[in-house]
Amino acid sequence: MNHLESIKGIGPRMKEKLNRNGIYDCFDIINRFPSRYEIYHLTSLKDASEMSRVTLEGKVTSLPIVSFIRKNFNRLTFNLLIEDRTFKVVIFNREYLRSILDIGEDIVVTGQIDRLKNTFTATTLKLKRNFKNEIEPIYNIDGIGDKQFQKLVELSLLEYGYLLKDDLPKSLVTKYKLISYRDLLNIVHTPISEKDLLKIDRRIKYEELFKFQFKMQYLRLKHKSKKSLSKRYDKELILEFISSLPFELTEDQKQATNEIVKDILSRFVMNRLLQGDTGSGKTVVAAISILAVLSSGFQVALMAPTEILAQQHYDTFQKYFAPYDFSITYLSGKLSTSERRACLETIKNNPKTLIIGTHALFSDDVIYNNLGYVITDEQHRFGVNQRKKLREKGFNPDVLYMSATPIPRTLAISLFGDMDISTIKERPKNRIKVETKLFNNNQLDLVYLLIDEELKNHHQVYVVTPLILESETLDLSNAQKVFQDLKKRYSDYQVGLLHSKVNQEEKESVMEKFKANEIHLLVSTTVIEVGVDVPNATLMVIFDSHRFGLSQIHQLRGRVGRSALKSYCILVYSDNEEVKERLEILERTDDGFLLSEEDLRLRGPGDFFGMRQSGDLKFQKASIVTDANILEIAKNDALEILMNKDAYHMDEYSLLFNYLKEVLKKVNLD
Ligand code: ADP
Ligand code: MG
Repeated sequence: MNHLESIKGIGPRMKEKLNRNGIYDCFDIINRFPSRYEIYHLTSLKDASEMSRVTLEGKVTSLPIVSFIRKNFNRLTFNLLIEDRTFKVVIFNREYLRSILDIGEDIVVTGQIDRLKNTFTATTLKLKRNFKNEIEPIYNIDGIGDKQFQKLVELSLLEYGYLLKDDLPKSLVTKYKLISYRDLLNIVHTPISEKDLLKIDRRIKYEELFKFQFKMQYLRLKHKSKKSLSKRYDKELILEFISSLPFELTEDQKQATNEIVKDILSRFVMNRLLQGDTGSGKTVVAAISILAVLSSGFQVALMAPTEILAQQHYDTFQKYFAPYDFSITYLSGKLSTSERRACLETIKNNPKTLIIGTHALFSDDVIYNNLGYVITDEQHRFGVNQRKKLREKGFNPDVLYMSATPIPRTLAISLFGDMDISTIKERPKNRIKVETKLFNNNQLDLVYLLIDEELKNHHQVYVVTPLILESETLDLSNAQKVFQDLKKRYSDYQVGLLHSKVNQEEKESVMEKFKANEIHLLVSTTVIEVGVDVPNATLMVIFDSHRFGLSQIHQLRGRVGRSALKSYCILVYSDNEEVKERLEILERTDDGFLLSEEDLRLRGPGDFFGMRQSGDLKFQKASIVTDANILEIAKNDALEILMNKDAYHMDEYSLLFNYLKEVLKKVNLD
């Protein structure tokens, strides 16, 4: 009924063009809102700034002259009387205006005025009699002009507009004094004032964020409603373990532990992210929850992205669980065939076992025995399918993702809105801060002195550079060159090199040597493992640090300060006040969350740490950075409706649930 050809002016060619732009029926036309608006605010000569774009009216006083500069590039000039002054107007590639502009014609021009040269360089030119609206919608539709599209919108609205209904619940529209969908349709394509623009903005932003959160929260609750096997753990054992730790848990650790353990006991599946800076004590929390699950008779799988990290976890948990008779198995990728067979046998036959490993954990030949709990460390390093594969090795196991990348709250409820989140912000009290200092590029000698000193004290040093090899276009330090230089300079020591072009085996062997103190100075790009623990490393030098995000530097800095030894982080930057100011915040704070907030503010959500695809976060009008408060409100509104058992049957929400049904068809479930 509302097919495209039902509109006058749409033939097969136009239809094809519209389809190419994702427009398949007249509702699509109506709902294709302008991507932005051009505002032509008529001003007077006296108020016309030379610094910005202005719109003025005047009378043509000379016939236009066209000069052809080169192919596809021409210039049209004429004189224009603006109020009492004549300006020479220049406009490029508008040759066709020659036949339209007559002497005496009243016109409106938009562009840049230069009083000294007496010129006006125009980007837009209109006849006064055609200049009706100061606000022009810009659609950016490939192959179709704005005017032409506006015509199609007008006709579609006339024909079918009345059929469209508001799927935003009326109570919310009223609560926030938003304009209704009907009113939105009336003005969004033809706003006449800046007040209209404001109304449009508010309505669309809220609607976008609300619908987004409605979907995310629905998914979260749906995950949570999946049945798991309830795990009746041994509470006494847990309490005993906690009190046997050589320290007291921080408040955040206690809270995270409670949240996780509660989920484990519940008959519903846990799908939770545990986030906190390295060293904030996530592993201990994980250990408590693992112990709980083991004591309830289930197996636990802990997956790490590399062998080194898996090995490290294996060592840690062996220490933690030494007093208990649960078995711990490390399914290493390095096992011989017979060793592997024995290991798989153990996994298959022994419940109450903790199995640690890399991707190897979800190989087809690994058969678990009552796998009840799956933990993924550095979860963003695994693909959706990899995590899914491991999860499917058990019957709806509880799932915990661990991440050492602090994510700002707004980003977290957007990226991970479909999960529950436990956050450890507070750090154990006994931590000494890594002393961070900025050094200008021309103070490198001082930096070398510091390296000298640490090496002499038998401590180890990391040096990080932005590039692997010399670049023709970027004047930045590269690992290869720095490695050669430092090898010469510190010939008494072992210098290692690590970057992404080094194969995985070699990478692990270099890391292993560094860990064993067989390499003293490690030159690397950012590939150095996030979680690798080398307590003897006390100095982190980052060259061209202005090339890195604050969070990234903070992550790197977390490689040092992992023992009682005083540690330093040196940020080398090239001369630039602005850069310096941005980096100085690292000298002042070691709060990973604060730094990531700052990153989000400065760099936007873009591809935040290459985590999840942030494609979901591109809204037409809303921004999760500047509209964080709306996001928060929208989330609570969404939750309130979803938690209301009757909502599904209420008329007020029926369109909203219809909408949800539609979008869920497109969701790729993790
Ligand atoms: P993460 O996994 O977040 O990097 P870990 O759990 O490995 O952190 O903890 C880092 C170190 O801090 C470990 O040596 C751990 O024993 C210690 N630790 C953890 N929690 C506390 C605490 N509340 N007080 C003191 N030390 C702690
Ligand atoms: Mg860790």
